[in-house]
Amino acid sequence: MLTLIFSTICSVIAGLGIALFIKMQRLKELTDKVFTLNASLEEMDEQAKLIIRTDIELNKTQEELDKKITGLSTLQKLSQEISTTLEESQIFKKIGNAYLEELGFEKSSAFLWNSLAREFHLYLSLGYNESESLKIKNTVNAEKDYYLDLMHGGKTASSVFIPKGFLAKEKICRLFQVNEFIICPIIPQEGNPGFIFVGTQNIETRITEGEREIITILANQIGQTLDNARLFEKTWRSQQELEIKVEERTHQLTQALEEVKKISKRKSDFISSVSHEIRTPLTSIKGYAAILLASKLGALPEEIRSRLEKINRHSDELVHMVNDLLDISRIESGKMEIRKETLSLKTIADKIADLFSEQFKIKNISFGINIPNDCHEIFADRSQIERVFINLVGNALKFTPQNGKIDIDANCANKIIQINIKDTGFGIPLDAQESIFEEFFRVDNTINQEVKGTGLGLTLVKHIIEAHQGKIWVKSKVGEGSTFSFTLKASE
Ligand code: ADP
Repeated sequence: MLTLIFSTICSVIAGLGIALFIKMQRLKELTDKVFTLNASLEEMDEQAKLIIRTDIELNKTQEELDKKITGLSTLQKLSQEISTTLEESQIFKKIGNAYLEELGFEKSSAFLWNSLAREFHLYLSLGYNESESLKIKNTVNAEKDYYLDLMHGGKTASSVFIPKGFLAKEKICRLFQVNEFIICPIIPQEGNPGFIFVGTQNIETRITEGEREIITILANQIGQTLDNARLFEKTWRSQQELEIKVEERTHQLTQALEEVKKISKRKSDFISSVSHEIRTPLTSIKGYAAILLASKLGALPEEIRSRLEKINRHSDELVHMVNDLLDISRIESGKMEIRKETLSLKTIADKIADLFSEQFKIKNISFGINIPNDCHEIFADRSQIERVFINLVGNALKFTPQNGKIDIDANCANKIIQINIKDTGFGIPLDAQESIFEEFFRVDNTINQEVKGTGLGLTLVKHIIEAHQGKIWVKSKVGEGSTFSFTLKASE
């Protein structure tokens, strides 16, 4: 019985042992699982922390990016605003509160160095009242050497970066009443440099690299605009000076012209009255000579006749000269009446050929006319234009030696006809070519000593052509000949 009980107990104990063992096994398994779970939980926790950290970082970057974009667009607007400004004082006025606040700064100052006064001048002061601005200006000037060094170093200082040797952050913050700031040099190519200060009182704001870059770009832009303004002012000033000079000169010239006109009128009046005075006795001399030559007062001995003929010839020349003088003064004073009509150049040229035919024959000069059909109708005063031809062809004849050649030709363009009278005469030296149209000018050479003349013919011709709104000029080479050219309006 005992044995049975013992064996039963034994078997119960064995059963319990097995059950315990199984439970132990199960417990171990469970403990292992809990451990693994704990490890995964920790891992997950780490990952969650990482995600949160990354999210914060991302948000920060996004914020900075947004700030940078706002900064850049504000900078663009501001640059546009100031780059069109050409007055130094206006440049800083354009940098208004709104722009700087958009950039995140409520306080701002800008200084330019005045090398004559050897001090900084305050050009911009935003966020400060008058006495604060004055205090800032005075303190900056008291510590000017630091700011000058900063400008010459060309580096941007900020609350996160203070160049070596520059003022301490706290000092600047105190002076400009800010918590964070940027100070950037303004360096134009010409003229005085300066610097711009921007800052904020916001204790949460930290100056970023992007903000430093934006303010540096703004300072460069101000430097360039200052250069443009100075260049513009320089150009504007010299233009003003030039205008004043031109005005003064014009005034002087107008006065001189008035004087010349007065003198010229006096001269014309004098020539005109003298010519009139001479013409009356000349007519009597010519009249008496003609009566005597006609033997109306009895036959004349040959000696007296030849002298009388001389008197007659010289009187003719004098009358001719007096008439030319009178005509010149009439044209000069605008008293010569010009009666314009349609004329044929061909007809005038033929008339001239006829007039000088004897002289051409005597000197064996060939005379050619080449006037195209579509270039021969002019609108001018007949008797005046005939005098032009007579004078020019007469001169060509006078100054062309035996067996020479004289040609008249014409060409036209834009309702203007150009007439050329060309000879193979002695030619005119270059230095005399400008003067031959002046009154009484005759080239000083042996030919002119033999050939008679007054030096009035070309003056009269020029006056007549100009009274017809034409131009006259000469091209000549000594020993080869001369070409006198003039223009007249073609008939409509
Ligand atoms: P004049 O013939 O009475 O001397 P003009 O005024 O007609 O006065 O001419 C001025 C001067 O121009 C002449 O003296 C002469 O020296 C020069 N001249 C004019 N026409 C010619 C020409 N065709 N060839 C050479 N010289 C000329």
